[in-house]
Amino acid sequence: MKGSLPLVAAVLAAVTLTVHAQTPAPMTPESLVKSAKRAAGDEYAGTFVRICVAPDNEGGPGRGAAGRGAAPPANRAVPDRARWYAKPYKVFDNLYFVGTKIHSSWALTTTDGIVLIDTLFDYAIEPEIVDGLKTLGLDPRRIKYVLISHAHGDHDQGAALLQSRYGAKIVMGAADWDATLQRPASAPGGVPKRDVVIGPEGTKITLGGTTVDVIATPGHTPGTLSYIFPVRDNGRSIVVAYAGGTAFNFPRRAENFAIYRDSQRKFAAAGAAAGATVVMSNHTEFDRAYDRVRIAQLPRATGEKHPYETDTATVQRYFEIGADCAEAQRLSMQ
Ligand SMILES: [Zn+2]
Repeated sequence: MKGSLPLVAAVLAAVTLTVHAQTPAPMTPESLVKSAKRAAGDEYAGTFVRICVAPDNEGGPGRGAAGRGAAPPANRAVPDRARWYAKPYKVFDNLYFVGTKIHSSWALTTTDGIVLIDTLFDYAIEPEIVDGLKTLGLDPRRIKYVLISHAHGDHDQGAALLQSRYGAKIVMGAADWDATLQRPASAPGGVPKRDVVIGPEGTKITLGGTTVDVIATPGHTPGTLSYIFPVRDNGRSIVVAYAGGTAFNFPRRAENFAIYRDSQRKFAAAGAAAGATVVMSNHTEFDRAYDRVRIAQLPRATGEKHPYETDTATVQRYFEIGADCAEAQRLSMQ
C-alpha cells in the first residue's frame, strides 16, 4: 500500500487547506464521482465501477425488487459448478472462507462455537458451507449464529437449512425479516423462522469471548447489516469492517441515496472508532476475496502483511466510495 501514502498526504493537505480557507468547493455529481474514483484507486476499482460507473438501478425506479442479487426464480437451473465452486480456506487464525468464487461466506470460530456470516445461494450450501467446514476440520453442528447481511438470495438461502438442521440462531435486520417471511415455502432454500431481529440501533453478539458489533446500514436493502469484528493473524489482533450491502439496486429515489450515503458514513465512523484495517464484503468483486483467500495460503516474507490487511485510512477511503457515489446520484436528481 506504499502507493497510497502520497494520496493520503495529498488528501490531508487538501483538507487542511480547505479548513484554513473556510471556502470548501461546492460538491457536484462530477466532483463526487472523481473523489470516489480517487478513493477507490486500483484496490477497490470493482466497487467504484459497480456503483459509480454503471449502478444497477440506473434504469430507473421499479428495478429494485428484480435487480441483481434478488432471489432468482424457484425453477432456475443451477449454474455450471466450475463457474462458482471454490475450495474452503483458513484465512486468519479464527476466520475461514467457505464462499464461492462470486459470493462470500465466512466462519468466525470461537471457543463456544461458530458465527457464520452469510450463506450463499441454495445450491452452494452443502458443497461450500457444510462440506467446506468439515474439510477445514470444523463441525457445522457448532454453528451458533448465522448473520445475514441482507435478505437477497445470494446471501440468505442457507439460513433455513442451518436453522433447522443445526439449531443456529438466524440474525437479520427487521425489515429484511419482514421481506423474507413473505416468501413462499417453495422459495429456494426454504424460509427460516423469525429469530434474532435487529433494529436500527444494532446490537453486539458475543460468543466465546468474541464480539461482533452488528450495525444497521440500511440502503442496499432496508434491513442491511454490516459488521465489525476482530480476527487474529498469527496471534495478532486485527479488526475487520464487513460491508453488508453495496450495489444500488434499490428504487432510484433521492431519499434512498441519502439513506445509503448516511449508512456508509455511519459505518466508516464505527470502523474508525474500532481501528479497522481490513475491508470485507459479501461479493468477491468488491474485496477481491477469491484472490486474497488464496494469496493468504502462501508463505509471507518477514514483516509482510496479511493480504487482507490495509490501514485505517484505506478502510475510510473504501466507505467514501459508497458515500460519494450515492451523494453524486442524489445531487444529480435535484
Ligand atoms: Zn443484495
